[in-house]
Amino acid sequence: MKENKEYPEAGNKLETPIGQKDWLEAMELRAVTQKIVITQFNVNIVMFTMNIPGPIKSNPIIQAIFQEGLMELLKRCECYNPIAFLEKNPATGPEAYILVPITNSCLTVKKDLLSLENQHPMGRWFDIDVISEKKTKISRSDLKEPPRRCFLCDKPAKICRREGNHSIDELFAYTIQQMQSYVRETHNDTKCFELF
Ligand SMILES: [Zn+2]
Repeated sequence: MKENKEYPEAGNKLETPIGQKDWLEAMELRAVTQKIVITQFNVNIVMFTMNIPGPIKSNPIIQAIFQEGLMELLKRCECYNPIAFLEKNPATGPEAYILVPITNSCLTVKKDLLSLENQHPMGRWFDIDVISEKKTKISRSDLKEPPRRCFLCDKPAKICRREGNHSIDELFAYTIQQMQSYVRETHNDTKCFELF
């Protein structure tokens, strides 16, 4: 599987702000990639992305946390006998597609993996979707799970977004600060993240 080179790559650039159009194109491309993968391989997909507020969706610390989440996710997916995984690193945020055989129940997979979103210290920023071979996404509400909470207060994130309770700058600053503290606490070498 080749990566789509028409897409802006994060590459060595530290941060590239993303506009509405880039974002919509990225969502479209993700959906197309999912369809192609499902059609060609007849699998379910575990899709992993980061949930980052604001126009910056990728930088070295976001990518480092993504890699950490991905390693943990791959470990948890071992029991589903995944057949392959595809990783992309566009400026709209890193993304990974883990292809799992359809013999696994999507509901069970989603339920298992929700614990990573719910329990990992950085899990609030992880977005783990399970897409069935019928191309339908299993959502939290399918499992009667409560909606995701806001980063900054206890309300459901949707409500805070709708009511505009926090500025994007505030949400992004909190995100980066939490990621920095996590890296500082868990890694000895933080030199490469000192800029952030
Ligand atoms: Zn809030």
